[in-house]
Amino acid sequence: MIRFEHVTKRYPDGTTAVDDLSFEVAEGELVTLVGPSGCGKTTTMKMVNRLIEPTEGRIFLDGDDISTLDPVALRRRIGYVIQQVGLFPHKTVLENTATVPHLLGHPRRKARERAAELLELVGLDPAVHGGRYPDQLSGGQRQRVGVARALAADPPVLLMDEPFGAVDPVVRDHLQSEFLRLQQQVRKTVLFVTHDIEEAVRLGDRIAVYGGGSPRGAGGGRIEQFDT
Ligand code: ADP
Ligand code: ADP
Repeated sequence: MIRFEHVTKRYPDGTTAVDDLSFEVAEGELVTLVGPSGCGKTTTMKMVNRLIEPTEGRIFLDGDDISTLDPVALRRRIGYVIQQVGLFPHKTVLENTATVPHLLGHPRRKARERAAELLELVGLDPAVHGGRYPDQLSGGQRQRVGVARALAADPPVLLMDEPFGAVDPVVRDHLQSEFLRLQQQVRKTVLFVTHDIEEAVRLGDRIAVYGGGSPRGAGGGRIEQFDT
């Protein structure tokens, strides 16, 4: 489903963030990408939705070379969740979640119904949390909204970049188990980045470890893969 072929990313200042990376994530598989800070995990993710272009190599999504796809169309096929999800501060949780379905052409009422379903799916109560504003939520609840929003376009692929990295350990544990339950229901192809090896082992069908291939810590070429 997602395939990296000899992908290298060098930033203009000469930093090699990803070095000759080749690996793939099968359809419906949850692969965790683990490695220390600075080893190139975020760069790897951003190349999949074309926020960053590789210097060399190619990335395929469901057989399509992503460099040939329109970035907007590409991002419809990919849900993206980051550590600090950016929600619109002046919109309620329900409105934040309904934005994507509305943009995709659902009339406002349908979009809100869809948003309510998504909130339930991630363990929030639309009647309770739906009317709140982002700053009235706990950190864990905000991350749940981020997951709901990423699922809104029903993309086959989810990219998750340390989505539970900024919440305390008890909440993280809770979010992890809910995410596993959710994944059993929705079966997305997931690339999940973390620097927490326990999280990687717990969540991943397979884990890919960035091995620190260069003196500056870039991984890429030295990736090792394990079944969990
Ligand atoms: P990780 O997500 O594993 O912490 P990143 O992909 O963010 O790693 O970064 C990999 C390497 O690339 C690091 O050495 C980082 O400092 C460097 N890097 C990231 N973004 C840029 C940039 N825009 N310009 C130059 N170097 C960058
Ligand atoms: P967490 O440990 O999950 O980060 P918090 O201590 O941030 O939890 O929040 C605990 C509860 O208080 C949550 O149910 C959250 O919805 C609620 N809460 C947090 N901030 C506000 C606020 N500004 N207004 C109303 N409720 C809030």
